[in-house]
Amino acid sequence: MSNLVRCTRSCISRFKKPHLQRNHFLSSSFFFTSIEEGRTGPTATPVRPAPPPIRVALTESAGRSVFATRRIGAGELLHTAKPLVSHPSLSAVQRVCYFCLRKLGNTSANPLQSVSFCSEECREQAKAFHGVEAKADWSAYDDYCRSNGLKYPLLVKRFACMVLSGDVSSDLLDVLQPSGVSSQMISEVEEGFSLLKSAFEEANVADEKMAFLTKQWYIGVLARIRINAFRIELAGGLYEDLLLAAAASVEAEAAVGNAVYMLPSFYNHDCDPNVHIIWIDNVDAKLAALRDVEPGEELRICYIDASMDHDARQTILSGGFGFQCNCLRCLSGD
Ligand SMILES: [Zn+2]
Ligand SMILES: [Zn+2]
Repeated sequence: MSNLVRCTRSCISRFKKPHLQRNHFLSSSFFFTSIEEGRTGPTATPVRPAPPPIRVALTESAGRSVFATRRIGAGELLHTAKPLVSHPSLSAVQRVCYFCLRKLGNTSANPLQSVSFCSEECREQAKAFHGVEAKADWSAYDDYCRSNGLKYPLLVKRFACMVLSGDVSSDLLDVLQPSGVSSQMISEVEEGFSLLKSAFEEANVADEKMAFLTKQWYIGVLARIRINAFRIELAGGLYEDLLLAAAASVEAEAAVGNAVYMLPSFYNHDCDPNVHIIWIDNVDAKLAALRDVEPGEELRICYIDASMDHDARQTILSGGFGFQCNCLRCLSGD
């Protein structure tokens, strides 16, 4: 059912009620009045970063959407976002930082360790969840992911370790919209759930700490990750060029991992998007305008490879995300 909500949100927000949303935005222009705060005066007061020129609106047609709060120029960086949860691909674990997915230089990669970090800062940030993770044996769980070609259970594993470490609450991802859960999906995830749970049990994690780790929790987290996770491809190269380049993702290297974010998940899809999301050298997502955007205009990203033809896009969007796309490009038959 929730897939329908997402579909409804995408369809209606553009074609049925743009006037409502525009008015809503205009009445809230105080949102960005603090941009220059801290920059005036002769004394060097700390500069507070300007808030991003966006606004997340909860529309009555159910769902969040992102709107421009002012005119935005092509290539402008709207904001960056740190992941809620991320994990390198199993094939990339030896090549990238276990925390931020930055490519490791020869000096950072340590072949004697199963995972490496690019810096002391990343090692420190990973300390809590990695401390939990390192106590358990993950070979069966990793084999399950590898042999079934699954990447999302790795994010569930890391999230569970973060919860067990006390870093985050077990309902951290509840703000994200879940995919629909079919009975087939439930049977498919049984194995992953029992492998995850037994890994913690064998590591003697106390039952009361694991109380959150129910099958229902596992399925709920996976259902959210399934439609909200981004595949991370590091673009490398010059930062300014990349913000401007619509084709940046085309030239990116193969995926180094997957991550789930809060704000980037609120952007709706469009096959002819006005915003793109890029990763320059680590898992921090950067959202940049692809063209000039007017105040109040909805900001949209493309969830899939926009170079595909109409039928291929529709097939992937309905199969993977559960909605039929009615963006202007699709309506034009392109
Ligand atoms: Zn790092
Ligand atoms: Zn479309």
